Amino acid sequence: MNQYQLNEKAMEFRSEIDISHFDPIDFFPLITHKIKDLTIVFLDMDSDISGACCKFDSQKIIFINSNHSKGRQTFTAAHEIYHLSCEDEQFTICNLNNADEIERTADAFASFLLIPTPALYKYKKENNIEKWNLDNIIECEQYYQISHEALLFRLKNAGDISNDEYDEYKPNVKQNALRRGYDTSLYEPYISKNYTIGNYARLVGEVFEKDLISKARKDEYLLDAFLSDLVYDMEDL
Ligand SMILES: [Zn+2]
Repeated sequence: MNQYQLNEKAMEFRSEIDISHFDPIDFFPLITHKIKDLTIVFLDMDSDISGACCKFDSQKIIFINSNHSKGRQTFTAAHEIYHLSCEDEQFTICNLNNADEIERTADAFASFLLIPTPALYKYKKENNIEKWNLDNIIECEQYYQISHEALLFRLKNAGDISNDEYDEYKPNVKQNALRRGYDTSLYEPYISKNYTIGNYARLVGEVFEKDLISKARKDEYLLDAFLSDLVYDMEDL
């Protein structure tokens, strides 16, 4: 698939989940709401592994490295969506430095999913951007909640910034964002511990309600997924 086709594919995916081609996405709440059979597990993994995914029966699971920044975690989730929706593999592990064709394709899909090409053109026009610089790059990544590196890479690939500019704009993004009045949540983990969001808790609740499992088994399943908050009533604390 070429870049044009991948962008089309990413926009099709946005349409399937009723998201316009232009809007920024509050990614994790949105996909766990829109993709009903999806569970996302945040896990403490080696830093060179960005994530993994698997599918079986009607269920899909995405694993995300809990040590990475929110921008990176979001990008990984979008990348894993490519594996889950466009490939037949049942289980895939994604390494940050793996440059093989499938990984690069999944990265390009993720980039287009977070900012479809028409959205980037529109953003550029509406913000009167003639030349990308660190100011408007940080504004854009904050607006679309895409990682600094992913946006720089996208702009470099499109020929909008040079290799030298890429190297110049890359470091110290937290300080550079703070100085421009942004908080740094994009550059810190969205969830920084072992934790599970999405369909899993709903499924466990359902089988318990149907009396298919005991309370003890339900608690065991929730603890398996790091959901101690649901086992020990945290609201009483
Ligand atoms: Zn991958």
